[in-house]
This record gives sequence, structure tokens and C-alpha cells, in this order.
Amino acid sequence: MNEPETYDFIVVGAGSAGCVLADRLSASGKHTVLLLEAGGEDKHLWIHIPIGYGKLFTDARVNWLYQSAPEPELNNRQIMQPRGKVLGGSSSINGLLYVRGQRQDFDHWRQLGNVGWSYEDVLPYFKKSEAQCRGSDEFHGAEGPLSVSDQVEPHEVCEAFIRAAEEVGIPRNDDFNGAAQEGAGYFQTTMRNGRRWSTARAYLKRARSRANLTVATGALTERVVIEGGVAAGVQYRWHGRSVVARARGEVILSAGAFGSPQILQLSGLGPAALLRQHGIAVLRDIPGVGSDLQDHLQVRFLYRVTRPITVNDVVNRWDRRMWAGLRYVLFRKGPLAVSAGYAGGFFRTDPRLASPDVQCHLLLFSADRPGGSLHPWPGVTASICQLRPESRGTLRIKSADPAAAPEIKLNYLSTEGDKRTMVQGLQLLRRVMDAPALKPYIAEERDPGPSVSSDADLLAFVRSRGTTIFHPTSSCRMGIDDAAVVDPELRVKGVGRLRVADASVMPTVVSGNTNAACIMIGEKCSDLVLRDAEARPRASAA
Ligand SMILES: Cc1cc2nc3c(=O)[nH]c(=O)nc-3n(C[C@H](O)[C@H](O)[C@H](O)COP(=O)(O)OP(=O)(O)OC[C@H]3O[C@@H](n4cnc5c(N)ncnc54)[C@H](O)[C@@H]3O)c2cc1C
Repeated sequence: MNEPETYDFIVVGAGSAGCVLADRLSASGKHTVLLLEAGGEDKHLWIHIPIGYGKLFTDARVNWLYQSAPEPELNNRQIMQPRGKVLGGSSSINGLLYVRGQRQDFDHWRQLGNVGWSYEDVLPYFKKSEAQCRGSDEFHGAEGPLSVSDQVEPHEVCEAFIRAAEEVGIPRNDDFNGAAQEGAGYFQTTMRNGRRWSTARAYLKRARSRANLTVATGALTERVVIEGGVAAGVQYRWHGRSVVARARGEVILSAGAFGSPQILQLSGLGPAALLRQHGIAVLRDIPGVGSDLQDHLQVRFLYRVTRPITVNDVVNRWDRRMWAGLRYVLFRKGPLAVSAGYAGGFFRTDPRLASPDVQCHLLLFSADRPGGSLHPWPGVTASICQLRPESRGTLRIKSADPAAAPEIKLNYLSTEGDKRTMVQGLQLLRRVMDAPALKPYIAEERDPGPSVSSDADLLAFVRSRGTTIFHPTSSCRMGIDDAAVVDPELRVKGVGRLRVADASVMPTVVSGNTNAACIMIGEKCSDLVLRDAEARPRASAA
């Protein structure tokens, strides 16, 4: 890269949303764009082979490897908080599931005053991004860059799981992103031909050939440079020294639910007392920066399966590993093309609810912890996560050093409603897993085991085993209330030419996996930025 210079737009973070912005903002050729990414190129082999997901949990080459602060309601355990640190961001290390959330989530965002974010408003952006393998329809697009695929082949345990759900009154659902989310079925994935389709692959790869896009990897953003109340550029660490790039148009933070509030706080935009505590000049007291952090708490049940038909059985035998490798190379099928969750479902713990409040993931493997060694016996995992948690956490810098990890507190399970929903969700999951269709497959529930059955015992199990399903959001929440950080056009309130576009702006976490919604946010933000650039042509002329 040449010496730092002036660009029309600077995008910080090449993750799910950031790669979309880099692509869309540079597409016309009219604007110069700088994309800054703290991580490196996405060359790691296991990024691209779906099952490699399990190997990236502890790999510092592609992962920030954050840990939460001790969680009071989870027996003071620290919870691992992986985040992608590589082109593609978390979309390069995630479980590949393509789930958008519920219609009601976006209508709720709109109901909170966020004009332009109802389901009807955001659906066109989901469709614009999507290359749906089943073709286009009312809910899906087929012309976008993001490949959305069906699982490469059915699996008999998943088939039995879907039948078991039907046996307890939960309908089969072949499209969680269609007319209704409720039901059990296979997940669709961000994959093409058995390979991961991160946003780096979907959006950035095609954009990188453009002369007006500069991508800087290994570039840790230290702060946004604010001059006269306006974002004038970005200071970042580049080959051991701090350099400044200036922005004629806008700076867009897409550094994720942990990165974006951290950068705002380092820039003097955040809770005044916290900033002063770390010797940072307060440019604007914005108490909401880093508050309202939300996440989906996940609890996993482990099952021993009656026959060696799981991924465990392949990974633990060299001859089956060889065969699986061959199948993958020749046909892009088999265990190497398995995403984190294979089948699953969206259930209501109370029939009076308008839409599902828990999600189940059925994994075709088992381990003591996410990313841990697979068990030496045939095993599957079935987990529950609560879709709309009431608990709120915080993200706060611990130091003025941009390279220091922030303090991440989720305060999981801090309301009675969250506790009740988790326990009821586990009871419902058990009813499905105990239903007749699964009897030929499930030899035993290994963890926690049938002796853990009362509400109190299940809650104790949640406290001792609960972990994240990796969906932190809302730490720079969008809204029209005083505590919101960005307005419904994603502009940081009170600061000119500075937006945030990533998981951190979600008013509430969506009822599902979060990657698709972050991509949608990137798509919508691109339109907002380009529209405003049109309105001030001199500021954004290349
Ligand atoms: C292990 C795991 C499994 C998951 N599974 C799924 C799944 O199956 N399906 C699903 O839908 N969602 C899943 N998610 C969640 C989903 O991937 C994330 O919500 C989504 O990718 C977040 O997008 P983002 O744009 O907010 O941030 P990210 O994609 O995390 O991007 C932020 C980028 O900013 C960079 N950055 C941060 N700070 C700085 C800085 N100071 N300077 C420069 N660059 C910086 C980061 O390195 C990163 O590349 C999973 C996440 C993880 C971690």
C-alpha cells in the first residue's frame, strides 16, 4: 500500500458488514474506498472447508480469542468469545448457518421508531445479497453475491429429529427464512459447492480488482480522527507505526459488536467517566456506547448414538478419515462439508407466544466444549438458545491502548424471564429427543443425563454449562431514544460523517443467527452512504 492518503470513504473492519460496504461503495468506480482490517488474508485452509470451523475457535491467526468477564449468573465462569480477525471477519470462522431472524424482529425495530427497518423495508436487502440455490421467490433472491445452499446431503439422524419434532406437534419447515420460521428442518448454509462463502469470498474478492478500492490488512484502527465534530479520518497502526488516512466523505465503523464500541470509546466518544478513567479526552459524552450488549446463551445436551454414523466416527478412525477426504475432494460431500448445525428448529416454549422464542441446533458431532476434541463414541449434540434475551451487558475499554482487549460482560441469565425460558426450552428439547422417531438412534443422553430433570436442576445445569452461541449485538444500538448511539440512518448521534454498520447497531438481537442480518445492514448502509454522497458531490468526488 502507498503512503496513507485521502479517500472518499474509510471502512473499518472487513467482516460480514465491512466487506459488503467495501464492495458496494467502490462498485461504481466514482469513489475511492479504504478498507482497514486488523487481521490478515483469508488463506488458512480450514476457513474454506466447512468442518474446519471447529479448528478456528482457538487459532490466534484468525481469531481475537476474547473471553468474557466472570459471569455472575453462570457460576462466575468466563465465557469464550471468538471473533474473526481476518478478511471476512466472523463470517470466515462462523458455523455457516444462514438464518435471517423473524419478520417480527424487524417490525419490532420499526415499532421502536427506526424508520426504514421494518421487515418489508429490509427484505429487499436480504434478497439483494442472496444467491439462493433454490432460485428466487417472494422471500429469496438468486442474483446476489452470497451463496445460500442446502445441506449437501440428508442425514438419517436429522431425518429422525424432524420426525420426532412432528411427533411432539412441531411442524416440518423446509425454509426458516420463508413465510414462517417455526418448525424443524435442515438449515441452509453460506456455502457453495461444499466451500465456505464468507463475505470476503462473496463480496471482497470481486471488488479487489478495482483500482479505487484499497484493502489494508494487519491495520489495527486506533481511533477515529474527529475535527470540529466531524469524522475527518482514521488513525491506524501500520507496520509498527501510527498513520492517519483522511476521509473526504465518511468513516464507517464495521468492526463488530466488540470492535466498534471499543473504537468509539478510544476516539473520545463514549461514557465520559469511563473515558476519563483511561485518560482519554471526552469529545462527546455518549453513555450508550458499549451498553445494551446482548447475546444468545446456548446450552448443549450431548447424546451417544447407537451406530457409528456421526462425524465423531469419521474423525476418530484413520481409514474413515481418508475416505471422507476423498469424498470431499471428488464430490464436495461428506463430513468435511458439514456446517456447525445441520438440522434444527425454532420452537415456542409457550403456545400463547406469537412466534418461536428458542432455537435448537442439532450437530452431527459431540465434544465437551465448542471446538474441543470429538468424543471417541458416536455422538450428536442438541442445543437450545433463547432467541430474545432480556439480559443486557456492557463493553468497556480496560485501557487506552487500542491493542488491549476490552472488558466484555454479557450478564447472561440476569432476569427471571431468561432463566425460565432456558429451562422450558431444555424441557421441550428433551421431549423432542425422547420422541419415538429418535429411539433407534439415541443410546443415551450423556450430559446432563436423565437424573437432571427438575427445573432447579436444569437451571443449575444452565449455570454450569451455558455458553455463547456467538451472537453479540447491540453495543452501539440504533434508535430514536436518548440512549441510542446511532440514528435510524446509522449516523453516530452528534458527530458528523461517522456511521456504524455491523452487529452492534441492532436495536435487539435478531431471533436467529446473526450473519445474514449483518450482511443486510451492510447492504442498507451502503445505500444510505451513496445517497448522501450524491447529495454532497463535492465532498465525495474521487
Ligand atoms: C464461532 C462463531 C460461529 C458463528 N456461527 C454463526 C452461524 O452459523 N450463522 C450466523 O448467521 N452467524 C454466526 N455467527 C455470528 C456471525 O458470524 C456474526 O454475528 C457476524 O459475522 C458479525 O458481523 P460483523 O460485521 O458485526 O462483525 P465481524 O464479522 O466480526 O467483523 C468485524 C471485523 O472488524 C475487524 N476489526 C475489529 N476491530 C478492528 C480494529 N480496531 N481495526 C481494524 N479492524 C478491526 C475484525 O478483525 C473483523 O474482521 C458466528 C460467530 C462466531 C464467532
